[in-house]
Amino acid sequence: MAQKLHQPIRMCVVCRERFAQSTLIRLQCREGSLEPYGGDGRSFYLCLACVEHKKTSGQLARQCKSGATVVLMNRLKEIIVNDG
Ligand SMILES: [Zn+2]
Repeated sequence: MAQKLHQPIRMCVVCRERFAQSTLIRLQCREGSLEPYGGDGRSFYLCLACVEHKKTSGQLARQCKSGATVVLMNRLKEIIVNDG
């Protein structure tokens, strides 16, 4: 009813559910390393509920074309802490 018509909706790469863009974490991979979205290049979204999801490490590995899932997950938690 009171929902804004032009609020952008984006999909979480892990659960594939759609959310308002403003509620999602926007990430990108640069040279195999996970980073907060810096304004250009390819990015992807993760919802907060999926931070601890068992499929998240695999999705990050896929997005970053990296097998270092532990490093990627630690970096993800760092990004979230710094963001808040
Ligand atoms: Zn999700």
